Amino acid sequence: MDALPINEDIDIPHRSVIDGVSHKCGHDGHMAILMGVAARLRKHPPARGSVVLLFQPAEETGEGARSVINDSKFKEIEPDFVFALHNLPGFPMGSIILKDGAFASASRGITVELTGTPAHASEPEKGRSPTLAVAQIIEAFTSIHQPSVSMGMVTVIHARVGERDFGTSPGEGCVLATLRTRGTEAMHIISRRTEEIAETIAETYKLECRISWSDEFPVTENSKTAVNTIRTAAGNLGLRIVQPDAPFPWSEDFGHFTKKYPGALFGAGAGIDAPSLHSPEYDFPDELISVGVDIFTEIINELLNSSDHIMK
Ligand SMILES: [Zn+2]
Ligand SMILES: [Zn+2]
Repeated sequence: MDALPINEDIDIPHRSVIDGVSHKCGHDGHMAILMGVAARLRKHPPARGSVVLLFQPAEETGEGARSVINDSKFKEIEPDFVFALHNLPGFPMGSIILKDGAFASASRGITVELTGTPAHASEPEKGRSPTLAVAQIIEAFTSIHQPSVSMGMVTVIHARVGERDFGTSPGEGCVLATLRTRGTEAMHIISRRTEEIAETIAETYKLECRISWSDEFPVTENSKTAVNTIRTAAGNLGLRIVQPDAPFPWSEDFGHFTKKYPGALFGAGAGIDAPSLHSPEYDFPDELISVGVDIFTEIINELLNSSDHIMK
């Protein structure tokens, strides 16, 4: 599930057999956890209510959650609560990372396509080259980049002008950047700002400017009730709880679920010194499987077997 285009060159018995593809975000581990929950529920079904285990693919592109939510089969489910975990390197092994409100940031990708006119490289003045416009957009986007400011950040991830042809002054170019914010309003503001920058610079150089958006992740907003349930469950199991002050800078498509249903995304510590997600050295720590199974089972227990919660 959700393998990444990263080569696995570490010496492990379960090393990927496909060159250039491997599980570097631990979604294989998350699926194993869910299988464990299924086995546990089969042995000890809840006293009431029902539990749906969602094996959702395509988290990496931000498409998965949205297509599940829009699926007619999912609409029949109408869950009272939604929960998800992600393993997190850099936190103590088996700890539970919890936060009320915004947990993971919003992000979206902007593509700016500029069109002018190509010309012979000896007479660039006869065409309209996007080269300077691309350079200025990169500079302007990069100067918005302020990770310390709560407003957000812009990371230029790709840029190009013309072709690899020494005889031609380019007639088109593009800049791609990823925007990240901790809130929805900030995302509106910073989106408008990048659009204005691109359009103004394109106008200066008399270039056509086309802007498109992709890879959209909303803020993952945790509900208080869901977070309290996880906190109680972790407490019951004697698991260490870590509570970060600020939302994480990365994004999760689980934000599409928390936009519609009360719920929470939480972290499961994969070890302080564990290699980071998406790095070639990363390997999902199997000892986290039992922690994941325990916490999900205990959350279900809290919601469906404890009398404090009134379910519809
Ligand atoms: Zn990932
Ligand atoms: Zn992931």
